[in-house]
Amino acid sequence: MIKKPYRLLAIALTSITTNSLLAQDLTYSADLLTQIRDASRAVPGALPTSINFVKFAESHRTYSVVIEDGGEEPFISARTAFQIVYQDGSVMIDAGMDETVHQFYGFGRVEPYWPERNQMVQDALRQANMILITHEHGDHIAGVIRSDIRDEIASKTILTKAQVNTLIDSPQLPEIGLTENLAAKYTVIDYDKFLPIAPGIVLVRAAGHTPGHQIIYAQLETGMEYVFIGDIGWSLDNVIEIKPRPQSTINRIGEDPQALVTQLTWLNGLLKENLLVIPSHDDSLLFKYAAEGLLNDSFIIH
Ligand SMILES: [Zn+2]
Repeated sequence: MIKKPYRLLAIALTSITTNSLLAQDLTYSADLLTQIRDASRAVPGALPTSINFVKFAESHRTYSVVIEDGGEEPFISARTAFQIVYQDGSVMIDAGMDETVHQFYGFGRVEPYWPERNQMVQDALRQANMILITHEHGDHIAGVIRSDIRDEIASKTILTKAQVNTLIDSPQLPEIGLTENLAAKYTVIDYDKFLPIAPGIVLVRAAGHTPGHQIIYAQLETGMEYVFIGDIGWSLDNVIEIKPRPQSTINRIGEDPQALVTQLTWLNGLLKENLLVIPSHDDSLLFKYAAEGLLNDSFIIH
């Protein structure tokens, strides 16, 4: 008799696990790309005309911490922000960071940082109509939290509820922590699977690297489609090979590797459909895209 409750409990736990797996699978269903493309027309207005990026800092890593089974070859992690340009305005993706936050990622080493380029990011944030954030880590979000112009840009900065929860409850570093009062300065949203947010731009939920991580899809007036994957993979190789970071890095960050593999699998399918997949930190890829005219490596500041 005493075993029965345990057995029921085991069945209940199995059922919960299966449900969460199904939910994950449904989020990245085969027709998700069609849904996103349809949603990208939901907000009326002319589509964007071009996409720019700025690299304001670098971290020097090896592939052994970037991808499962990676070797000791150097990997330059570019710290970047992106500017989606419209005829009559702009939307920013990510916000740069000040040098104090940059030092956190050096693990005691001094690594390249260009203050004038981070200032260009700040100028672009001030000028932007809207600011989107891929996820709540310091190298992506510090520029809208630790900024002289924070109060000026906060209400056009769109944070998700999950991002805000992390920043209040367990920020990556104390310098980027938010209080409830500070969080109330920003525009905080919540959505289930995806959300059209501007002409041609759709947010796609992608918890895994962090609880508040999202993919940002953008389609230009030319029809070119860009998929900003933040830190789902640091290198395009993560997507091509469908391999997450190695276990030691997963543990350090506290990632959900199963969610990441599901996302990498879906993104790998997008490569075959000729969408331009853009990891935030893949230095060689970003400058290759720039050389091919697919991105510009400077911001437009009026
Ligand atoms: Zn990052």
